[in-house]
Amino acid sequence: AKDGQSPPWYPTPQGGTLSSWQQSYDKAQKMVERMSLVEKVNITTGTGWAMSLCVGNTAPAIHVGFPGLCLQDGPLGIRFADHATSFPAAVTVGATWNRNLMRRRGVVHARQARLKGVNVLLGPSMGPLGRNPAGGRVWEGFGSDPVLQAVGAYETIQGIQSQGVMATAKHFVGNEQEHFRKSFEWGLPEALSSNIDDRTLHELYAWPFAESVRAGVVSVMCSYQMVNNSYACSNSKLMNGILKDELGFQGFVQSDWLAQRSGVASALAGLDMSMPGDGLFWLDGKALFGDQLTIAVLNHSVPMTRLNDMVTRIVAAWYQMGQDSWTSEGPNFSSWTDEESGFLHPGSSTKQEKVVVNKFVETEDEESRNLAREVASEGIVLLKNSDAILPLTPTLSGLGTGNRKRVAVIGEDAGPGKGPNYCEDRGCNQGTLAVGWGSGSTEFTYLVDPLSAINASFDGSSVEIFSSLTNSVSSKLKTKLKEQDMCLVFGNADSGEGYRIWQNQRADRSDLEIQKRGTRLIRAVAEECGGPVVVVIHSVGPVIIEEFADLESVKAIVFANLPGQESGNALADVLFGRTDASGRLPYTLGRSLEDYGPGAPVLYYPNAIIPQVDFNEGLYIDYRHFDKYGIEPRYPFGHGLSFTTFELSDLVVTELKAKSPLPSPRPKTLAPPALDETIPPIESALLPAGFSTLRKYVYPYISSTKQVKEGKYPYPDGYNVHQEPSPAGGGEGGNPSLFEDHVSVQVRVTNTGSRTGQSVVQMYVSFPPSIQETSTGEIIDTPVKVLRNFTKIELDAGAYQTVNLTLTRKDLSYWSVVQQNWVMPDGLFTIEVGHSSRNLPLRWDY
Ligand code: BGC
Ligand code: BGC
Repeated sequence: AKDGQSPPWYPTPQGGTLSSWQQSYDKAQKMVERMSLVEKVNITTGTGWAMSLCVGNTAPAIHVGFPGLCLQDGPLGIRFADHATSFPAAVTVGATWNRNLMRRRGVVHARQARLKGVNVLLGPSMGPLGRNPAGGRVWEGFGSDPVLQAVGAYETIQGIQSQGVMATAKHFVGNEQEHFRKSFEWGLPEALSSNIDDRTLHELYAWPFAESVRAGVVSVMCSYQMVNNSYACSNSKLMNGILKDELGFQGFVQSDWLAQRSGVASALAGLDMSMPGDGLFWLDGKALFGDQLTIAVLNHSVPMTRLNDMVTRIVAAWYQMGQDSWTSEGPNFSSWTDEESGFLHPGSSTKQEKVVVNKFVETEDEESRNLAREVASEGIVLLKNSDAILPLTPTLSGLGTGNRKRVAVIGEDAGPGKGPNYCEDRGCNQGTLAVGWGSGSTEFTYLVDPLSAINASFDGSSVEIFSSLTNSVSSKLKTKLKEQDMCLVFGNADSGEGYRIWQNQRADRSDLEIQKRGTRLIRAVAEECGGPVVVVIHSVGPVIIEEFADLESVKAIVFANLPGQESGNALADVLFGRTDASGRLPYTLGRSLEDYGPGAPVLYYPNAIIPQVDFNEGLYIDYRHFDKYGIEPRYPFGHGLSFTTFELSDLVVTELKAKSPLPSPRPKTLAPPALDETIPPIESALLPAGFSTLRKYVYPYISSTKQVKEGKYPYPDGYNVHQEPSPAGGGEGGNPSLFEDHVSVQVRVTNTGSRTGQSVVQMYVSFPPSIQETSTGEIIDTPVKVLRNFTKIELDAGAYQTVNLTLTRKDLSYWSVVQQNWVMPDGLFTIEVGHSSRNLPLRWDY
């Protein structure tokens, strides 16, 4: 295929080819056989925006007992719901580098979702990956590295799905910026195209999706924009080829909300469910599936087998989660009102009676609150800690003179502001920042602000707190600051989803500055404070801290990311050393946006009718770019201090399986279920007599048999080109031989400090130099190093332990565009183990 052109890949591989799904497919096939055409279409199509209680709803197939499904955001809690937890955002979860916490957060999140009657959670998010540090939604994912992102996704999915709730891996793929993600939202005829080459797709952007499929995820959401000039939700190469053939995805693909731009073409390209069901626009009373899919099947433009596969995939996913045993009567909350009663179909203008829609079911408990706090505190990254200024003691011992100490807490971000739910979908930056904005946010039941928690942590009889909860710098403030024994100053940076604008910021950040003149405030405090200064930042991603990072008075810099509802408590846990500082940066902190390379800035102005974003930097984003060009970051990817110190030693690398260039041949998979090809009579799809419809609600029915016109409807170009199954496929996530362990790495970790703490052991791999592609002789360029595995352990002072990390075949392979397979190159790999991408004391050539 030409650059920027997506090759065709047809037809859609059928689901039901892997043994891990066999029972679910057997049951699904039996159920689907009994469904009528309109029932099948019902299951593939949302009922329309705000047509039922959740953000996405499908209608039931009543006579076979398949319920309507409730699909609800989002990645950090249950959106538009009450009595549910606002967990830390995924970027904070990524910063914990703690697999166990990642999984537990998924479990508790899903338990709450289930109590609310949610079938499908619209998360986790792993795209955007973080190509653009200012990208509006990067914080919804786990960090700017495919492996960190993949581990976060994998654990979260397993946690969610252990509770029988379906997880959704989103947004597949290349939705790296918010500008022009969608056409009409940005006043353009079409959305932008992310132009991504095959190798970069495999090694970077699709990697976390592959791991999600390996985790057993039952749903994937295709993204808004185009990939290689074909909309992601009608891109056959991505959905049919990569996802369903190569990655062996057995579940269903749903569109992002109005990301579907075509009917037949999307179905043939592998889309299984249209969300929220409306046509090209919100609430236009039309559909791209719905009655249009019914017609397309009846007039032969979509094969009946494709529809049957779409439906079977959805029903199999439901069985796979055991939802057939659910006894709940569906969602017990409404996304559209906080009142107890409301409309069942608020999107429709048809007159309706109000009924009870909100039952205010409590889903929060001690465990969820504690977990939210634990994740938030482990997600705090201590970047700098001169003179061991932290942790603090409640009496501020060791600082200042006299027996009454003075501490200043400064900045709008330290306080409650106008309350956590002040702006719709959290679409403004005011008060302390705990989440970004958009569909990935929640309604807070409460938010513990930093000032309250700091207040509660100091001993009030010996410490006097002065606070100023704005970012303005007055001469009065300066005078006050001079009297202090210590100052804590707060700053933040916010961003969010494309449908909301805050001041001049359309979702993506306009720069990497601390917002609301925060840098100026921090500098002023650093210059005027009578004692040492601790800087605390809440942010959606990297911010530039050059103006104060090196100042003598700035003793500590604390990156608290997006902590969710337990913000203040979690921060105080770390500031006062009730827990170790154990977060590590999930992205590189550069000295300027330019440091991140020419691909990093968001495209803020359209450069063509269909804006073209060429991912020319390829694999070189974040630390891979800094390493390649020898740029010194302010703080490297993976960096973070503990209150104790750790030493790594005794690295031993053991080969478990000999090197060999290619994975085993693709294993034989099961024959998929035989799907019925019979097209039912047109009359069976007619709106039943006497059926009263709601305006703008999306139905599967046709109103007249004349809507089905006989004719020849050509399939898309390339439909008849035979596709060989990918040699990289054959199991969930890819060829199972890719996930066999090849190398085992042991390293001893010793806590050399004087208190209990947690260490994150990070393993990076450098590929052999000058790899040659066998058939073409071309030299394959690889990053200086890539993160491949990590673990986090807690050790008491003086204690040591040997940790074990493994590397799979995939970890040691590059994607060969020539061989269309993962290839383990000849030559010596270098395995490095250490504390960050730039602090790797141990190495071994393998
Ligand atoms: C977002 C998705 C979200 C969906 C439903 C879309 O605009 O991109 O992430 O799940 O809306 O709210
Ligand atoms: C909705 C979101 C949706 C967004 C998409 C908003 O109006 O509240 O759920 O993700 O539109 O553009």
